[in-house]
Amino acid sequence: AKSGGRNVLSFFDAKMQQVIARQSQLEQDLRRALEEGQFELFYQPQVDMQDRMQGAEALIRWRHPERGLVSPDDFIPLAEQSGLIIPIGLWVLESACLQLARWADNPQLSGLSLSVNVSSCQFSHPAFVEQVLALMDRYEVCPQRLKLELTESLVLDNAEEVVSRMHVLKEYGIGLSLDDFGTGYSSLSYLKHLPLDQLKIDRSFVSDLFTDPTDLVIVRAMLALGRSLGICVIAEGVETVDQRNLLASSGCLSYQGYLFSQPLPLTQFEQLACRPACL
Ligand code: C2E
Ligand code: CA
Ligand code: CA
Ligand code: CA
Repeated sequence: AKSGGRNVLSFFDAKMQQVIARQSQLEQDLRRALEEGQFELFYQPQVDMQDRMQGAEALIRWRHPERGLVSPDDFIPLAEQSGLIIPIGLWVLESACLQLARWADNPQLSGLSLSVNVSSCQFSHPAFVEQVLALMDRYEVCPQRLKLELTESLVLDNAEEVVSRMHVLKEYGIGLSLDDFGTGYSSLSYLKHLPLDQLKIDRSFVSDLFTDPTDLVIVRAMLALGRSLGICVIAEGVETVDQRNLLASSGCLSYQGYLFSQPLPLTQFEQLACRPACL
């Protein structure tokens, strides 16, 4: 039994080493990706009640030389663990600002807002606010066009530093959106202290609207909450006309999801936005 136990241990040891080796390989690959410009932003439209495009969410993709297009779920967690999310996140922000600056000259694109995902550790980094403001200045971006999508876990912390940073950004005119809203489990009282412009209903609630009656109740409560706090609410992950209509009849005014469009590479997104009858 004793030697059996040791075998089990060395088995896990070997597995562990494999995992660590794979992670450090991926970490190296991520560094190289940043240096060699293998990251790319895709853009997913956000639409209003009349299906008019209001803006887009920027979603990072990794064009890996061998593995093809890698989705963020496969590398953002490691980027967060390793600290690489700081330079990667900065690249995302700079690319978003550059794009907003380019769109400013085109009447069909200049009205769009662009939402950028910000990891908690990125937002908590001491230089974050300064870097965002410097980018806005450098690219002469209208602050109202940029939205930062923050996670519930960040704002739930309610750390003084986080809240005061949110106020600085807000004062500057930058939009703040609460991503994956409803997936954390805290009381909602913290919301009234935060300078939020948008709540983003998590896609898990939208996908179960017709199968889980509780989810419809929760979604309606979120919409009512947004209304009473004066915060816009957008539903993500809208895939069917039925979902869209149920959301609309519940008072939802903004939508994002495959029903309207997948996240698109830049040129395709611009073509869609500039079509005569938009979406
Ligand atoms: P998220 O912020 O919740 O982004 C929404 C995800 O849902 C995206 O996945 C999008 O492609 C997907 N999606 C959109 N519409 C639908 C739909 O109708 N149905 C379904 N099933 N899915 C839909 P994606 O692009 O793979 O991104 C995954 C996550 O990676 C994002 O979740 C976000 O947390 C993270 N992420 C993406 N880009 C960045 C980034 O630049 N920085 C950071 N820190 N995180 C990012
Ligand atoms: Ca998001
Ligand atoms: Ca989400
Ligand atoms: Ca998510």
